[in-house]
Amino acid sequence: MPHETALIATMSVALALAFVFGFVATRLRLPAIVGYLLAGVAVGPFTPGFVADMSLAPQLAEIGVILLMFGVGLHFSLDDLMAVWKIAVPGAIAQIAAATIMGWAVAALWGWSFGAGLVFGLALSVASTVVLLNALESRGILDSINGRIAVGWLIVEDLAMVLTLVLLPALAGLLKGEGGGELGAYAMVQPVLVTLGKVAAFVIFMLVVGRRVIPWILHYVAHTGSRELFRLAVFAISLGVAFGAAVLFDVSFALGAFFAGMILSESELSQRAANETLPLRDAFAVLFFVSVGMLVDPAIVLREPLPLLATVVIIIFGKSVAAFAIVRLFGYPTSTALTISASLAQIGEFSFILVSLGVSLALLPERGRDLVLAGAIISIMLNPLCFALLDRMLAKKEESATPEKPAEPAAPRIPLEASKLSNHVVLVGHGRVGSVVSKALRQAQVPILVIEDSPGSVEKLRQEGIEVITGNAAAPDMLQAANVGAARGLLVAIPDAFEGGQIVAKARAISTTLPIIARAHSEEEIAHLKHHGANTVIMGEQEIAKAMIAQIGLAGA
Ligand code: AMP
Repeated sequence: MPHETALIATMSVALALAFVFGFVATRLRLPAIVGYLLAGVAVGPFTPGFVADMSLAPQLAEIGVILLMFGVGLHFSLDDLMAVWKIAVPGAIAQIAAATIMGWAVAALWGWSFGAGLVFGLALSVASTVVLLNALESRGILDSINGRIAVGWLIVEDLAMVLTLVLLPALAGLLKGEGGGELGAYAMVQPVLVTLGKVAAFVIFMLVVGRRVIPWILHYVAHTGSRELFRLAVFAISLGVAFGAAVLFDVSFALGAFFAGMILSESELSQRAANETLPLRDAFAVLFFVSVGMLVDPAIVLREPLPLLATVVIIIFGKSVAAFAIVRLFGYPTSTALTISASLAQIGEFSFILVSLGVSLALLPERGRDLVLAGAIISIMLNPLCFALLDRMLAKKEESATPEKPAEPAAPRIPLEASKLSNHVVLVGHGRVGSVVSKALRQAQVPILVIEDSPGSVEKLRQEGIEVITGNAAAPDMLQAANVGAARGLLVAIPDAFEGGQIVAKARAISTTLPIIARAHSEEEIAHLKHHGANTVIMGEQEIAKAMIAQIGLAGA
């Protein structure tokens, strides 16, 4: 085998194993993420067999973070960011402080130095972008007010970490108690000011130059009519801005990509741009989880069970309780506080960077790094459970409904719990087909509930008071949330028959009598959808042909 194949080997083995483990996890009714993480453990250096390249995997994972943050930016406008700024900034800072103190306190109990405790605590205080976005998106709440607060919170955490990573080397001597006295206030303040200056320069550059140039490039490329070139432009912009931000302004990749996306969200092409990034984004997000798994030595569970337990408790409970209290303190409803708490009850990429830096500066013992890594994998695995718990609590709260001040009265409420609609039509997909159907149903005064993946296209419906769930209808609990069990029918108006098949099968499992009508493009797809339980399948092409025949008949008459 030629020797320059580390990248190919790492990517192909990681993706293939992630697929196998993810598939098995799903069959066992576990989240696919658990499978991806275990695939990572399997290709990591602590388990026998193939060992993936330990320097390449985190870089591949970083591409996932970039594409994800770019996608989030595409759904975020500057106004959205300003709207949540008021809670996100103090909330994130207070929560980082609370988690850091907790981490530092247990480290002090173990007899670690102040510096070691500080790095350990900080590493436990920041949530993972990928995990948080995955959780919010799969539940269809990324675009809700709660989702936006969570994303704003994440961005502040991101900024705080950028500052920490710059400050830590400057303060390492002081924290270790070596020659601290010689370090004046200037030495501490200067790196912070320089970093803040660079972040500000980047933001100003993007708002002044990027805002004009990026949409112009995309519009220009869109007019060439080449889909391939358009896709390339979207990727070049997302990765290029992220890389440029990191190299020229010392901003994190994630923050750079987020701004690139946000600037694009002001242009009407944003929806198309978002869709172009989806397939690659998903693949690289999987690589992120595999690379997390690779870092973990599973033997730590036996070697240090109690310290590990303390670490996990801080990540999952300590942080959540702190976040909950802060959000409630700001007067937001319990549902918002619980969503933020569940979103933050995990740690990821920033913690890894921080602990590696801590170890290389001889601030943190290697044991601390191992605890953080193992704590990360356990908290990521348990995160779906936290969200399940959140659902339970919200459902209970709904039962004993005490009227409470809503977070933002005008904000669309995206139901997590089952819709109260009954005898309604559930319409999946609101594109070329679904929008025509929904118009007719609304005119006929039939109650409808729409499930649509891309939020932009349903904003108007929401304003009209139609109940909308944003997200993939094939994701768990979506159909329950739409209350299909009590519906008069389900219309699956999406072009992808494989995904359509999953949706049909899930709906059929909920109700054996529900009339299901689905959309197809070939005889094979018709058979596939019927096999999964659709009563009627309409093939678009056949209907076009019929209409054409009718037209020619009319013309000839
Ligand atoms: P069209 O082909 O123009 O009718 O558009 C199909 C619409 O369905 C688009 O707006 C997609 O965003 C949406 N869509 C596709 N797949 C799903 C899915 N699995 N769940 C919800 N909406 C979807």
